Amino acid sequence: MSLGAMDIFKHLPAGKKEENANCKKCGCPTCMMFAMKLSKSQAEPSLCPFIPDNLRQMLEHNSKIQQQTLTLGHLKIGGETVMYRHEKTFINPCVLAIVLDSKDADYIKKLNKILDYEIECIGEKYKIDAVYFKNPIDSDVAKLKEKNIEIITDEFLSGLCEVKYTNYSDTVNELIKIRHEAIINRNENFSKPVYMQLCTKDILSACAIASTLVCKYVNLLIFDELNEALVSSLITLRLNIYTDPQKPLQVESKVYEFNNPDENALIFLTTNFALSYFAVANELSSLKCGSYLVITPSEGMSVLTAWSAQKITAEIASKVVSANDVLNKVKNKQIIIPGLLSDLKDELQEALPEWKIIVGTTEAYKIPDFVKKLQSASLS
Ligand code: SF4
Repeated sequence: MSLGAMDIFKHLPAGKKEENANCKKCGCPTCMMFAMKLSKSQAEPSLCPFIPDNLRQMLEHNSKIQQQTLTLGHLKIGGETVMYRHEKTFINPCVLAIVLDSKDADYIKKLNKILDYEIECIGEKYKIDAVYFKNPIDSDVAKLKEKNIEIITDEFLSGLCEVKYTNYSDTVNELIKIRHEAIINRNENFSKPVYMQLCTKDILSACAIASTLVCKYVNLLIFDELNEALVSSLITLRLNIYTDPQKPLQVESKVYEFNNPDENALIFLTTNFALSYFAVANELSSLKCGSYLVITPSEGMSVLTAWSAQKITAEIASKVVSANDVLNKVKNKQIIIPGLLSDLKDELQEALPEWKIIVGTTEAYKIPDFVKKLQSASLS
């Protein structure tokens, strides 16, 4: 656990209301300022002549490494600093790897399956991270590396701590103990990242166990073979666990096209919060007509949050619309805004007088019905 500024401050003269409080000898105007610098490792404890021994020891303990970070090609393994994601964030996603042995009878089939595997999730493409290659063949190593799949060797594994699966509760308890020793007690004997090999024979059990292991607390999981359903589930789970809760997922602010929009296309608008984008994009892709989706720069906030925080305003939205010439090719000058932005309609109408602003649905899944009604109203 890292020491916060307040934890440090209470041991300094100002925190203890002693006579040397805020004497500035450390170069900081106050003890609080020095405590803040110490908590961020931006100052040396020795700069304060009045620092007590217990605080010096706490800071020394705190400066010890928690979990080592190992590099495997473009991947980083370990380097975690907290027990729970909500404390700060988990840093390096659990690496998912498959055993590959060129001496196996079905080697080529296995290799091709690994090379071909790919899933798309929230706009990103994912493959297997790495292969634990036994009896490697150089040309196949090159093929794997070309696809950004890293190669694990026995030498690399010797730098990690192996935990063997025994049963569910004993294994999880052992993993928690290792992580606790590394993160909380900063015990160097437990600082190596952890790996485990899992058999996928009973796929449902493997999926349940591996899901727990991704969360608690395996850094590298190696499966005996590639099961696409298992790996896809784990990649999706991993995306949820290894995102920074303080940084919302966002997409680029621009105009996106769906189903080859022409002059009859519909124009929708929403914020750059990734989930809002994908929810709307999914519906627009399923429409029979072409459409444009205008994404405003809203710091990754959802529609209502962005509106409350003034991150989507008539000025911001009108700037994005006016900056995109492609929208001027559309005959029907109307922009459909999210139902949750109905309060913005009049303001936006004023900012974009040549456009008709229409309030759309509050939920993305209602878009197809909304479009049907809109189209039949325009025909009648
Ligand atoms: Fe406070 Fe020590 Fe800095 Fe003086 S030298 S201001 S007592 S932290």
